[in-house]
Amino acid sequence: MREALWWHAEANEKILCTLCPRYCRIGEGQAGFCYIRKNIGGRLYSLGYGSSTGFAIDPIEKKPLNHFLPGSEILSFGTAGCNLGCRFCQNWSISKAKLDEAQSLEVTPDRVVELALKHRVPALAFTYNDPVIWGEFVIDISRLARERGLKSVMVTAGYITAEARPEVFRHIDAANVDLKAFTERFYHKLTFSHLDPVLDTLQWLKRETDIWYEITNLMIPGENDDPDETRRLCDWVVDHLGDSVPIHFTAFHPDFKLTDKPRTPAATLVRAREIAKSSGIKFPYVGNVHDLNGQTTYCPSCGTAVIRRSWHEILENNLRAGCCLCGEQIPGVFPAGQVSHTRARHRPRRL
Ligand code: SF4
Repeated sequence: MREALWWHAEANEKILCTLCPRYCRIGEGQAGFCYIRKNIGGRLYSLGYGSSTGFAIDPIEKKPLNHFLPGSEILSFGTAGCNLGCRFCQNWSISKAKLDEAQSLEVTPDRVVELALKHRVPALAFTYNDPVIWGEFVIDISRLARERGLKSVMVTAGYITAEARPEVFRHIDAANVDLKAFTERFYHKLTFSHLDPVLDTLQWLKRETDIWYEITNLMIPGENDDPDETRRLCDWVVDHLGDSVPIHFTAFHPDFKLTDKPRTPAATLVRAREIAKSSGIKFPYVGNVHDLNGQTTYCPSCGTAVIRRSWHEILENNLRAGCCLCGEQIPGVFPAGQVSHTRARHRPRRL
């Protein structure tokens, strides 16, 4: 536990938390919507600081990131709680838990970085629950990670205020931002949040930072899979972020409070990928299903398959220092001198 950043006291003895657009007003002894920011004696504390609900080594493609150190492994961890209320949450056992319910471990920033170095991974990921709500911990770990030559990745819904963004993302190298839908109806009804702040975060990433970022759109049958909505989402991305931002259309499975919806048919994802291509998106992918074509990176210039994947596994990587054999630079962060190789199968493993 540590005193929080981004808050101020109000006249009514409540604290206003300004970390995320929910702007909770928190009375003495109470916690905000996310469970892990608490008013204790008139000051706000980050209960998530120094805790983890567990560590795992994942393929970086699982985040998902397809254009950032492809084929590498990443140390992944999260805390408890969340600032969104997604009824379809696929990590609800920790995102809807308070710290003491989630069997958290105590851990320091130094220990996290040491763990990554010990396992010889090039990067660590703040994931599983939304790292925005433990922004103070993110800052301290990512600063230390950078000093020790490691990269840091945020896996986030992007629901953060303009005030907090620059500090939370200061030492971050890459992000996957969940753009959960492209209607305010969906955000309001199924996530208890709003669309516009997420779009603001995406535009801020493009405008103000050199952070590499990709987008995930989890497609839920009957809720956000309408082709018109996918078209509008893709057109917005091209117009506001450009055509080189990878988008991952991923399959939903029934979970938490949304168990009356079927799994996403693979055909829905294939259709979304085609819509994205016709909107001009150069790197549309599908996820959570087996689809070799939909998981391959194609050179936008000559059409060569530059990275072939099967789910999270790299089958073949023909990039040379980030370029296709035709010389086209593929946008992303690729290790210098990377040459064609086939990677041994990586399995996520809990530590
Ligand atoms: S970070 Fe937590 S406490 Fe702060 S406004 Fe968001 S949900 Fe509320």
